[in-house]
Order: sequence, then structure tokens, then C-alpha cells
Amino acid sequence: MNPTARIPFLDLTRANAAVREQLDEAWRRTLESGRFVGGAEVAAFEADFAGHCGAAHCVGVANGTDALELVLDGLGIGPGDEVIVPANTFVATAEAVCRVGARPRFVDVLPDTLLIDPAAVEAAVGPSTAAVVGVHLFGQMVEVDALASVTARYGLALVEDAAQAHGARFDARRAGSVGVAAAFSFYPGKNLGALGDGGAVVSSNPDLVDRIRRVADHGRSDDRHRHDTVGRNSRLDAVQAAFLGVKLAGLDEANRQRIDAMAQYRCELPDAASPVATHRLAEPVHHLAVVQVRDRQAVTRALDAAGIGWGLHYPVPCHRQPAFARYADGSLPVVEAAADRILSLPLFPGITKSEVRRVCDVIRGGPG
Ligand SMILES: *Cc1c(COP(=O)(O)O)cnc(C)c1O
Repeated sequence: MNPTARIPFLDLTRANAAVREQLDEAWRRTLESGRFVGGAEVAAFEADFAGHCGAAHCVGVANGTDALELVLDGLGIGPGDEVIVPANTFVATAEAVCRVGARPRFVDVLPDTLLIDPAAVEAAVGPSTAAVVGVHLFGQMVEVDALASVTARYGLALVEDAAQAHGARFDARRAGSVGVAAAFSFYPGKNLGALGDGGAVVSSNPDLVDRIRRVADHGRSDDRHRHDTVGRNSRLDAVQAAFLGVKLAGLDEANRQRIDAMAQYRCELPDAASPVATHRLAEPVHHLAVVQVRDRQAVTRALDAAGIGWGLHYPVPCHRQPAFARYADGSLPVVEAAADRILSLPLFPGITKSEVRRVCDVIRGGPG
């Protein structure tokens, strides 16, 4: 490999090139079927994905944000309700809460994993609390047992935001199988990515799933011309479902490549760049390679000079975003301190050992 070639933060063309023929065939099959929204391709993928998650049902929807919103709406959460969410997440988690008319209550995260702190959740429970969204961020599931014991004690719904955790496990249970329902995103850069937007709700609660499926399809009843509830349109395209079927067959292998690359980062990075910790019961799928560094500007300058891509997830915690400032009640010290130190390194299926080594060398201050 050319030692001065750019190392992208994310290279989707590599992963897609590996299954190019199957993707072409999926497109050809969909085109010839003449069925582009819903239908057999979507039903087949829904069954496969539910099985992969260890859940009974899956409903394909338009994107991960809709999946979250549809779950909260399906649970009857709305105005007057409060939903506890971690301040360290992509804004979509909080958006979904606001879109159903409820109020997000931001809580702090654990300093080692940067995932939602179950003790902070318990401290935030109040008379209006209806649900907790556990966000399996960076590919690692939240502390499921601790969180589920809080939600059970107070009679709250535990919703999983699994948009970054396709295939992750905690104590042998898969993301998507531990809450009342889970929301997945198939945005192209996610561990299981479509070639466009897509999402899914996964749940083993048949009534909730049925309600969500109807709302997402204009509130249709069994008679497609009778609309019992005011619904909306949030459906998975047949061609995306066909592509996702191809990608799902390779998901475990793609995740293994992420895990291997992350293990190499852990070995070869200098102490000054420390990866977020893994809970001893968690088996993460490493959506992102997040490290904490003291002097981020110096590190990103060195990476820039060496032609190495990087990202920030997330430099502004949700409660500090202008859109959600009105929901902030005080400071959340762990997430606020981490926001200045986090740095995401290149990580994607197909990244080579020599590329990971070069990133580590550059961070150590060696030659780019
Ligand atoms: C990507 C993401 C979402 C939203 O998914 P979209 O498909 O982009 O709407 C929600 N939560 C988290 C944690 C995400 O990373």
C-alpha cells in the first residue's frame, strides 16, 4: 500500500464492492417485480432481521428517527410525558421525543463507556416519566440489567435506540431483544446500511408492532380503504429491503472486521489516546472507534497533515444544542468534559491492518 495514500474516515465503496454482484441482482429482481414499496422483499427482510435480533417481529420504516418516533407514539407517549434520554447521543433520539409532543429529560453518561448512567436515570425519574431510551452508542449496548431493573421498578417502558448497534450483544442478548421495542437505522454509514435511508422497529410485542405497522401505512385497517387512525407515511422501499438482505448476510463478518480493527487500535494506540471502555458483559460491534485525547487540536492537526480522516461524535451534547436548550436543567459534567476530548478514528469493514497501524503511528507523533 502507498504509505501516503489518504485514509478515509469511512469508505463505503469498499464494503459495497465486495457484494457488488448480489446488489446488482437485488436491484434487477426488484425492477422486474414491479413492486417498489412494501411487498415480498420487505416482508422477507423483516423476518430475517427480526431473527437476527432475536425478536419476534420487525417493521421496516423510512429511517431510524421515524422508527423511534413510531415506537414512542405506539406506546401512547405524548404531551405531558417525560422521556429520559442520554445527553450523549445523536440528536435524533431527542428529536423523536419532541416530535411526539413529550419532553426529553437529559441525563449524564458513565465516564468509561460514555453510555447512559443507570443511576442517573433512577435519579431523574419523576411523576411524568413514561419511558427511558437506552442508546447503544458507538456499537456497544447499554448496561441492560441495571437499566431494566430501574425501568421495571418504576413501571417505565425501556426503548432501545439501536441505530449504531446492529448485531451487538450484552450478556448474550442481542440489541433489539431487551426493550419493549428497538429502533434501528439503515442509514448507509451504519453497521447495517442501505443504499439510501431506511429504518426498522423490532419488538416481540405483537400489539405494539401491529399498531406501528398501521400508523406507518396511513392508519390503514385490514380493509385498505378504511382508515381507523390518523396515520402517516413511513415505509421501507422494496429495493432498500433487497439491498439490506444482501448486507444482512454479511453483517456478522463485517462486524468481525470492525472488532478486529478496534482490537488493533487498543493494542497500538499510545496511552494518550484511550478508546472508550467495554463493559465486561458487552460484546460491541464498534460502529465508531471513539478515543479520548487530551489535546484534540494537536491530534487532529497531525491527522489532517497525514491525510487521515476523523470525526467527532458528539462535540455538542444534546442539552447544549440550541434546539433542546429549553429542556436542559443544569450541567451534566461527564458528558460535557468528554465532549472536548472525544475523537473518532477511521473504522469500517475492509480497513487494513497497515491503515490502522499508520493512524496509530501518526497519533504517536511518528511519521505519517
Ligand atoms: C443514526 C442515528 C439515528 C437516526 O437514524 P436515521 O436513520 O438517520 O434517521 C438515531 N439514533 C442514533 C443513535 C443514530 O446514530
